[in-house]
Amino acid sequence: GQVDVECDLMVLGGGPGGYSAAFRAADLGLNAVIVERYPTLGGVCLNVGCIPSKALLHVAAVIDEAASMSKHGVTFAAPAIDIDAVRAYKERVIGKMTGGLAGMAKGRKAKVVQGVGLFVGPNHIEVTAGDGSKQVIGFKQAIIAAGSAVVKLPFVPEDPRIVDSTGALTLPFVPKRMLVIGGGIIGLEMATVYSTLGARIDVVEMLDGLMQGADRDMVKVWQKFNEKRFDNIMTKARTVAVEALPEGIKVSFESADAAVAAPEPKLYDMVLVAVGRSPNGKKLGAHKAGVAVTERGFINVDGQMRTNVAHIFAIGDLVGQPMLAHKAVHEGHVAAEAAAGQKAYFDAKVIPSVAYTDPEVAWVGITEDEAKAKGIKLEKGLFPWAASARAVANGRDEGFTKLLFDAETHRIVGGGIVGTHAGDMIGEIALAIEMGSDGTDIGKTIHPHPTLGESIGLAAEVVEGVCTDLP
Ligand code: FAD
Repeated sequence: GQVDVECDLMVLGGGPGGYSAAFRAADLGLNAVIVERYPTLGGVCLNVGCIPSKALLHVAAVIDEAASMSKHGVTFAAPAIDIDAVRAYKERVIGKMTGGLAGMAKGRKAKVVQGVGLFVGPNHIEVTAGDGSKQVIGFKQAIIAAGSAVVKLPFVPEDPRIVDSTGALTLPFVPKRMLVIGGGIIGLEMATVYSTLGARIDVVEMLDGLMQGADRDMVKVWQKFNEKRFDNIMTKARTVAVEALPEGIKVSFESADAAVAAPEPKLYDMVLVAVGRSPNGKKLGAHKAGVAVTERGFINVDGQMRTNVAHIFAIGDLVGQPMLAHKAVHEGHVAAEAAAGQKAYFDAKVIPSVAYTDPEVAWVGITEDEAKAKGIKLEKGLFPWAASARAVANGRDEGFTKLLFDAETHRIVGGGIVGTHAGDMIGEIALAIEMGSDGTDIGKTIHPHPTLGESIGLAAEVVEGVCTDLP
């Protein structure tokens, strides 16, 4: 058949994985084409994920901090919230970043073809634009970076009061009573935004605690600080029916614990379904290219991000957990470098996770709970922020910094921070793990005083048993 565009490298999907891969490939001299169905680059992260959520969380954080200042002798009037203007602010943030990406693509002569791509063979993809017009792109190599989509609950009806994360980020209205189904990071970040804007929040989570993956001691700190934010946190409970009634969305629950009665059905003004994301692997015609897709829609890759078809790579959310933008970016770089003939491998020891809630909860490497479950012996250095002068001065000393070392080698293997700006600091612990650092390396690294980051050095000194006279 006819081929409309020929290229060295076709990247399917313009999210953090895809654009990072295409830009790196272009920098290495490959002629790269990005196929993206949406009019802007940036994927889920930039358009309906990481970035809009952080813009709204910033607004919430300022409102909350202003309110908390009354404890320190400064009282502000109640905030006047112009929800349209807040929405516009979030849109401006997205626009700045997607505009930047478009410029970066242009600067590198990476062509963006807009439309839905479907493989038609091992070296060809057909792209259908919004107007129905089709073109075929021929490629020598390809990187599949088509990401993931929200998981829907089958029994949930269509109703404007029932939203997923994308819907919640559009801030359609501020409900009085809101239910968040799913106590993971995304649900809790949105709960933070909506509760600050005035909603009363319930959370229902199937498992026995919120923010799975994080150590329970950190989640406990977060939960205690947020006690007032939530009316009811229902763990080990499941939503079994959702009815859209004129007076509200009626939700019925079931207890996953035989010893505990199910919560009573309740009416809500908004229900957010945040029960996870599933990979887009099955929607791409991958079989036409010979690329194997798992039952769940993931695409398996090797250390160079190659699929079972050697000239086709896959990266990002659709190759597996954790579904995080920074993982996608690094995988994208590896795939692009390998496509350009370099000996690149994805060799990260650890990938940090962050809940950008208030306080933030961040962790990297092995967790204490995981080590306990697996019988791995660790040494722990824990520095409570009540002893951090900076945290106390900020009026936010509820958190702590924890470092975890292998009991035999004494090298750091994990760490967690709960407290304000935890996400901005967790990278240092990731670096320490990648460098194979021990407690002496970290403890003897001079951190500036007084900072929250200093708590990392001080936690290391706790392990070393060195007495410190810094407050
Ligand atoms: P995506 O970003 O999903 O991009 C895939 C792209 O491919 C999309 O643009 C899609 O339109 C396109 N595409 C798919 N199929 C086709 C096709 N057939 N033809 C053409 N185009 C196609 N991660 C973090 O690290 N930090 C955060 O703070 C964070 N916050 C989040 C908040 C929310 C509300 C959500 C939903 C996610 C968040 N994430 C966060 C996760 C993050 O968004 C993803 O891990 C990241 O976007 C994955 O990047 P990706 O390149 O693999 O795929």
